[in-house]
Amino acid sequence: GGVAVRAYTRPGGLDRTRVIAQVRHAIRGIGDQVGVAYPWPSFTVAETAGGYGMESPAMIWIPRPTTRANLAYLVHHETAHQWFYGLVGNDQQGEPFADEAAADYVARTVLGIRRASRCAVAPLDRAITRYSQACYYEVVYIQGGNVLDELRRKMGTATFWTAIGGYLADHRFGLAGTRTLLDALVKASPVDLGPILRARFPALY
Ligand SMILES: [Zn+2]
Repeated sequence: GGVAVRAYTRPGGLDRTRVIAQVRHAIRGIGDQVGVAYPWPSFTVAETAGGYGMESPAMIWIPRPTTRANLAYLVHHETAHQWFYGLVGNDQQGEPFADEAAADYVARTVLGIRRASRCAVAPLDRAITRYSQACYYEVVYIQGGNVLDELRRKMGTATFWTAIGGYLADHRFGLAGTRTLLDALVKASPVDLGPILRARFPALY
């Protein structure tokens, strides 16, 4: 849709054609899901030698050891950060829910690969440093995404996604956070979301 996609891969590394196809699928699918188009004229993806996937505005990094099966997920997760972190920023260290849970939920929704968490239920409104290394991903990304899905079911799918799009539009190229994101859902919801929010975000509700 008019976005110039550039991919930098190394011989013997990631399949460049496959990477570009996944990036294009993610840009279109996520934009359609949230109702807000990808906000920059170009998008660059670069292969790294290892470590984790990473995002910056209009660019993502994908590690070379990514399996073919995991490539779609990783590209969609990092691309979803172009909306949650890039278009609307937040304190990534203090409120990882606002960018990681939202990005992961949208990515998994577009791909149809949501799953249950492998860690015990824990609050979602903590700073990164207050989660164990073993359960940070399982709590913030997986449980966080599943709570967003629970809110979607409570509110109704159309109302939920309209509210998410409204959050992105209202804070476009600005800063927001977990409370602002959840309040946008509360404001739009025809039913009381209080019980879920008080249970999962005890420091905020
Ligand atoms: Zn992320």
